[in-house]
Amino acid sequence: MKYDLIVVGAGVLGTFHAYHASRLGKNVLLLEKDEKQAGSSTQNFGQVVPSGLSSTWNKYGQRSLVHYLELQQKADFTIRQQGSVYIASDDAEQELLEEQRDIHAKAGYENIMFSKKGIIERFPDLNPDYIKSGLFYPQELSVDPRQMVNRVSDYLNEMGRVHVRYNHKVMAIIRKMTGCEIELENGNTFRSEQVLVCCGYSFKTLYPAIFEKSNIKISKLQMLKTKPLSNIKLKSNILTGLTIRRYESFEECPSFANLATPERYQKLKENGIHILFKQADDGSIIIGDSHEYAGIDGVRELGCQSNPEIDGLIMKEARRILNLPEDCIAERWAGFYGQHEDDIFVHDVEKRIKIITGIGGKGMTSAAGYAEESINSLYQV
Ligand SMILES: Cc1cc2nc3c(=O)[nH]c(=O)nc-3n(C[C@H](O)[C@H](O)[C@H](O)COP(=O)(O)OP(=O)(O)OC[C@H]3O[C@@H](n4cnc5c(N)ncnc54)[C@H](O)[C@@H]3O)c2cc1C
Repeated sequence: MKYDLIVVGAGVLGTFHAYHASRLGKNVLLLEKDEKQAGSSTQNFGQVVPSGLSSTWNKYGQRSLVHYLELQQKADFTIRQQGSVYIASDDAEQELLEEQRDIHAKAGYENIMFSKKGIIERFPDLNPDYIKSGLFYPQELSVDPRQMVNRVSDYLNEMGRVHVRYNHKVMAIIRKMTGCEIELENGNTFRSEQVLVCCGYSFKTLYPAIFEKSNIKISKLQMLKTKPLSNIKLKSNILTGLTIRRYESFEECPSFANLATPERYQKLKENGIHILFKQADDGSIIIGDSHEYAGIDGVRELGCQSNPEIDGLIMKEARRILNLPEDCIAERWAGFYGQHEDDIFVHDVEKRIKIITGIGGKGMTSAAGYAEESINSLYQV
């Protein structure tokens, strides 16, 4: 059988490219090397926050909100519309929030500014001493990162819309006279008209020479997860002062250029730390994160272990914001993603074979919307 499209890698980029191609009536095969998706798309917070993206990527984020909500109508993909809130802790962060409020309001992206009192009323578990004000985005979403992408690909497979094959590691992609041939680790082959390579940060295997020259960087992020904490209620994605100082949307604010880093943030910034919280349905809270960078061999260079000193810095700042009980951490891990200076790495290997990866720290927010445009352009819709 010859497919219209084979997608290599069932992370968010691969799955949503397969999803959108199936919506155009294409016959799609999605191949994943692992037993279940276990790349960046399951290692993350699961915050779907277009408000944090540059104005260019915000539009993909907004389209993603539409696709996520449409999917959630069909089955439970763990998608929850509980909004996101940015908490300013000093005057400079508050100024950025006010500027961002105006920029997004002008662009028609709904948000609500809350005073300190308003935030305390809505998020009584946050430490009042930390709060200056907050900017709330009611339409934003959160997902359970361990489950969402696997549930989407399983659903597409069950509905017969996309053929999904796990434990199918692609070893080579060969251009033929009419289409392409995919060779798997077990020696089996598949054929298709087109191939999209969405293999995330483990990208070196298939095209080492291309990735060597790609300028893709690997980022390592340390993450922690608490035990279920039923006495804390954080309904929304919580993003804090250091996030306001870090996310791309705020870089477009007028006062960002003159933003000074106070002494208390120095060590945290050196380790790329900003504090986010995301509470799951069972009451457990994901806390993170830090950022270390390396070249395309980053996973090996940076190592898969969490550095306890970095975890300590994350938790110290997290406790300044949220009153967490002692000994509440149940899990810690390091997640990785590939990122490119052009926001994403898109490369035509040859006619019919395209690499799409390096979406960085915004894939859960924007991949569903980005993939729609990418598939429409592939099929000239
Ligand atoms: C700690 C952390 C926190 C984050 N938090 C957020 C967040 O809150 N919000 C947000 O928007 N983004 C977040 N991100 C970013 C987001 O997770 C990534 O942008 C996104 O998951 C990248 O998706 P991907 O499909 O490109 O890669 P991946 O999810 O890594 O998927 C690639 C897939 O390809 C498969 N593969 C590789 N090689 C082969 C092969 N040869 N054959 C078959 N299969 C192959 C891999 O097994 C993998 O399943 C976070 C990332 C991390 C690491």
